[in-house]
Amino acid sequence: MHQSDVVIVGAGMQGATMALAAARAGLRPLVVERGKVGSGATGNSYGIIHGGLRYLQSLSVGRWQRSRQAQAWFLDNYPEHVRPLACAMPLYRHTLRSPMAFRAASAIESCLYRGTGLSRRLPRLQLLGSEEIARAYPLPRRDLAGAALWHDLVADDMETLLRKILADAGASGAALMEDTEAGELIVADNRVVGLNVTHADGSAEEIATPRVAICAGSWSSRWPQEPKAATTATLAFNLVLDIPFPGDAALAVSETPGKGRSYFLRPLEGGTFAGTFYRPAPGAREPDVTPADIAAFLEVLDRALPGYGIAEAGVRAVMPGLLPDTDGTGRTLSAADTISTPGPAGLSQVLGSKLTTAPLLSMDAARRLWPQEARRAA
Ligand SMILES: Cc1cc2nc3c(=O)[nH]c(=O)nc-3n(C[C@H](O)[C@H](O)[C@H](O)COP(=O)(O)OP(=O)(O)OC[C@H]3O[C@@H](n4cnc5c(N)ncnc54)[C@H](O)[C@@H]3O)c2cc1C
Repeated sequence: MHQSDVVIVGAGMQGATMALAAARAGLRPLVVERGKVGSGATGNSYGIIHGGLRYLQSLSVGRWQRSRQAQAWFLDNYPEHVRPLACAMPLYRHTLRSPMAFRAASAIESCLYRGTGLSRRLPRLQLLGSEEIARAYPLPRRDLAGAALWHDLVADDMETLLRKILADAGASGAALMEDTEAGELIVADNRVVGLNVTHADGSAEEIATPRVAICAGSWSSRWPQEPKAATTATLAFNLVLDIPFPGDAALAVSETPGKGRSYFLRPLEGGTFAGTFYRPAPGAREPDVTPADIAAFLEVLDRALPGYGIAEAGVRAVMPGLLPDTDGTGRTLSAADTISTPGPAGLSQVLGSKLTTAPLLSMDAARRLWPQEARRAA
């Protein structure tokens, strides 16, 4: 029988960074993953580690700061697995995405850097002229007033990044079991004493452990949850299209110029990586994308970038995931990061809204859940 100080369920960004945080708190974690490392939302994500520029529109200073801290964490700890990605967004007169709005965002960001003492790690926001952006991409020209250019980080090979994080956790005592599905908790006197797991060959095993941390993303509701826990009800997916994309940058476009949800397009292995399309999926257990979903996304992209041939492009790959929403209807994505202890004692759930901020959430969770161990290890 395996024994472990803490079993972490799920090897996405949350589980991998939780393993690192637990190992650094002096625990010897065992990560149990039902598929392969990164096979959930993390491996199917768009791979961007956001800098939080979008949060400046609503003056959500705390979220901006957390995103910048998360970018710094990846740059400091995994510089060889992330790279700056230039992102361009066309700006249109008389809309919220106008040159004036972006100049204001740039000024606010400069003040925030000074106010928070965070150091700028990526180039500052720039404005491009309308001719320059129109030469690069076949954009709708009416009221086009230029483009904003900023840099985020991107992880091109998410699985390798996750395996490196897990290897670092392994150097401090963590272990990984892939192709192993976590099942029922084993509980005595309202305390966790173990976890049942099933291996890919059908064999079952009990792992003796006093702590289980659920980092199973949209599959977390299988275990006891706090009544107010986020519900996963939104389907999200990216497409890899069989059509080359110009340049190296990502381009953010929207169905109506200057308004509404932004979709990103960037080059990927000679094709175009397009993301992210969302639709409500209340009660869904698996991220099932239908041909109608794909057609709807292609239509949106075709309207956003007419004349680029997207409607006729072949689809090389569909990359789906389920995400938490705010009220179970699937209409509004949750932006909350939650650490909950629904009971029995020793059970915790760590559910984040973005892979970007998963490492910070894991460090907070380790401090909150295992303060004595963390203090002893410090
Ligand atoms: C299409 C899409 C695009 C996105 N793009 C971005 C982006 O660009 N930037 C960003 O910051 N965020 C993005 N996100 C959000 C981000 O991917 C998620 O918030 C984050 O990856 C969630 O990580 P996680 O580890 O909690 O979940 P997951 O990555 O889903 O990991 C959960 C793991 O648990 C495993 N598991 C489930 N049940 C069991 C079980 N019973 N036993 C063992 N293992 C189990 C699963 O196999 C899975 O590997 C995107 C999401 C999607 C779906």
